[in-house]
Amino acid sequence: MGEKKVFSCPNCGSPNFFGNLRMHVIVVVDGGNKFIKQHKEVENSYRDEEPYGPYECCECGTLYNELND
Ligand SMILES: [Zn+2]
Repeated sequence: MGEKKVFSCPNCGSPNFFGNLRMHVIVVVDGGNKFIKQHKEVENSYRDEEPYGPYECCECGTLYNELND
């Protein structure tokens, strides 16, 4: 596995960005399709999905559509 070049903010050098992640949540419902509670394994259920833009630098707030130069 080659080393992956990681994008950092050209403004402030921060390597951290706010992105978006659609969570796939498994829930428990009753027979009327009424939400009762989240499934207990919910914390593991969204990690397969790829976060997507727009991204916002955590430090200076600059917006990016893609995390690259
Ligand atoms: Zn920044």
